[in-house]
Amino acid sequence: MFETLQALVLREVRYKEADRILTLLTDRDGKLTARARGALRKSSRIAAATQQLTFAEMTLFENRGRRTVNEAAVLESFDGLRGDMEKLALASYFAECAEALSVEDQPEPELLQLTLNCLYALSRGLHKAEKIKAAFETRLMCISGYAPELSRCAVCGREPEDPVLSLDQGCVCCRSCGGRGERCDLGEEGLTAMRYLANAPAKQILSFDLSDSALARLGDASERYFLRRTERGFSTLDYWKSLREYADPMP
Ligand SMILES: [Zn+2]
Repeated sequence: MFETLQALVLREVRYKEADRILTLLTDRDGKLTARARGALRKSSRIAAATQQLTFAEMTLFENRGRRTVNEAAVLESFDGLRGDMEKLALASYFAECAEALSVEDQPEPELLQLTLNCLYALSRGLHKAEKIKAAFETRLMCISGYAPELSRCAVCGREPEDPVLSLDQGCVCCRSCGGRGERCDLGEEGLTAMRYLANAPAKQILSFDLSDSALARLGDASERYFLRRTERGFSTLDYWKSLREYADPMP
């Protein structure tokens, strides 16, 4: 059986002499695994469209639950990521997150759109990398059912004063109200941005402004909350951080 769909290549692994095994996030069927025969040969017609972090239209052939790529044409190659190690590392982190939080054969249209929007912005340099990363992590939490409770202080019930995010409880509270366990500073600007990210239309996810200091707090909170909820590490995140330290050593 043949089916044509749009797919983002989250991961490619070399298989045998010249094949690739692809992990795809598709528009209609969610996450899939497919084999791209001969994709590593120079003469292959599907070489470009089956590279990691490429969005492509693919025709897949399915036989007894196994899929192979029959045809593939590039829709967006995100070229701006390829010549820049830091951008490529962060994009790979987005792909690893999308893979970790998706389920095989279950449509994930919001996740696909979020990942594509963030890759596009990163590739074109439309926003700071830290801002795209914080937006991606926060929105991904909301899409995946881990949205933090941001509407009011979880302790006193009022609009939070000097808000902090409680990582264990997934809620916001006033600094003076406390809350249990590990907390991150959000500040009012950070809370406003997080609320925006939880509710903004998908296409406008990056249309918010933030001072550098507030962005640093938001970035710290979004990453720590994300890692706490997913309860795992991401090698691509560690790699991105190591590149940044190398490029911008601490004084
Ligand atoms: Zn309070």
